[in-house]
Order: sequence, then C-alpha cells, then structure tokens
Amino acid sequence: GAPADYILETRGLTREFGGFMAVRDVDLRVRRHTIHALIGPNGAGKTTVFNLLTKFLTPSGGTISYNGRDVTTVGPAAMARLGMVRSFQISSVFANLTVIENVRVALQQKLGTSLHFWRPKRSLYSLHARADELIEWVGLETYRDVLAGDLSYGRRRALEFATTLALEPELLLLDEPMAGLGHEDIARIADLIRRVSQGRTVLMVEHNLDVVSNLSDRITVLTRGSILAEGGYAEVSQNPAVREAYIGG
Ligand code: ADP
Repeated sequence: GAPADYILETRGLTREFGGFMAVRDVDLRVRRHTIHALIGPNGAGKTTVFNLLTKFLTPSGGTISYNGRDVTTVGPAAMARLGMVRSFQISSVFANLTVIENVRVALQQKLGTSLHFWRPKRSLYSLHARADELIEWVGLETYRDVLAGDLSYGRRRALEFATTLALEPELLLLDEPMAGLGHEDIARIADLIRRVSQGRTVLMVEHNLDVVSNLSDRITVLTRGSILAEGGYAEVSQNPAVREAYIGG
C-alpha cells in the first residue's frame, strides 16, 4: 500500500528462538487512523510481534516500515521519537508521585527528547497547563493531587493513558489494556481508547473479544506465529479456521 494508507507495515516478519519459529513470515498492515486488534490463542506470537515492532527484539527476518520508511534497524528510543509509543507492558506510573506529578514527569521526558520541536513559548507554563489538560482529558481532575499508588486499578490505567499521551504518540500500541479490569473500568477505558483513536492509530493486543468487537475496525488473528485471518470482526469471527483455533486449540 501507499505510505499514506498504512502507518505500519511488516513484510515477512520472522523471529526464531533457538530454531523455534515464534513469529513466521508475518505481513501485518495497519491502516492509518484505525483501531487494529491483534488476537490469537496463548503462544500465538502476539507479544513477540509487539516486541519486534517496538524494537525490544530484533527480527530474524523480514522488514518493518513506519510511515513508508524502513525502520527495521531503528532502535526503541528512536521509534518513540518517531511517534510509536507502547503502553501497559510495564507500569509507567510512579506510585509515590501524585497524578499531576506523574503527568509532568512524562511531559518533561518528552520535552527532553525533542527540545528543538518546542518553541520557547511552550515552556514551563504550558507544560503545567498541558498536564492539567491531559488529566482532565482522562477524567482524573478530582484525583489531581492524589498519590498514584492510592488510585484504583482502573484510575491508574487512566493515568497511564495520560502519561502515554504526554509523549504525543501517532501510533499507540496497547498491550492488553483491559487486563485485570472490571466491567465499569472496561467501559471507561474503552471510551478512552475510542477518544484516543481520533486522529491517531491504535494497535492493541486484547483477550476480551467483546472489547475487540466493539472497538476494532480491523482484526488480525495470529496462530502459531502466522496470520490465520484478517478482516472486520464479523468476517473474522465467522471464519471456521478462527473458531477452530479458539475452541479446538
Ligand atoms: P502470545 O503473546 O501470543 O501468547 P508469545 O509471543 O508470548 O505469544 O510467544 C510465542 C511463542 O514463542 C511461545 O511458544 C513462546 O513460548 C515462545 N517464546 C516467546 N518468547 C520466547 C523466548 N524469549 N525464548 C524462547 N521462546 C519464546
């Protein structure tokens, strides 16, 4: 596809661990400004794909392009600067800092890595204003001065969204955003993901198929390291091979 169509594209992406093919010949295409879900049974290779995309692992074969540019050998920090940001694989929140302090730290981090993109006007004052804006955006304004460690699990996840958004991602990689959340929090975070996706692209690994069906524009199903099916939820969920992979293992 043209660079304008796909923000992210892999060709023949492969990763072996001591001869075992964890990811085999994967051609993944993520269309710009969509929510794209990567699903599949345990051991399918989803985490390995995420680690390859974010450069925590090097591919054994294949290429990765981002915005039409080959980024196969670009490192993780540079990928983040290019706008690909991953969330939730490690807690990015400091428990002993307040909500607002956490967001300021994230904004300062962004400021530190891209000083020349910031005009002098967008200095400390705008950093503080931006921190407040982000907290409001994720609905945590009442918890502004609460220690992150005292937040409920769901609110902590909302805070993680705020700190991730502080990095101004263009492509957001979400690693099981609903893991460990109850119904109410799931609804809240789903709403956040929907709002986050306005003007951005979201690629997520998620086990909750209700969430996947409600949120995703497109779904890629992985099994045993390879793509088994791809399409909209209705199409993919009717696919006999997909049903077999989920039920038959
Ligand atoms: P998923 O995220 O879909 O559950 P993973 O990507 O974690 O799947 O794992 C895919 C396969 O690769 C699994 O069989 C797993 O055991 C294997 N694997 C993952 N990481 C390693 C590693 N570092 N060394 C050896 N095998 C690995």
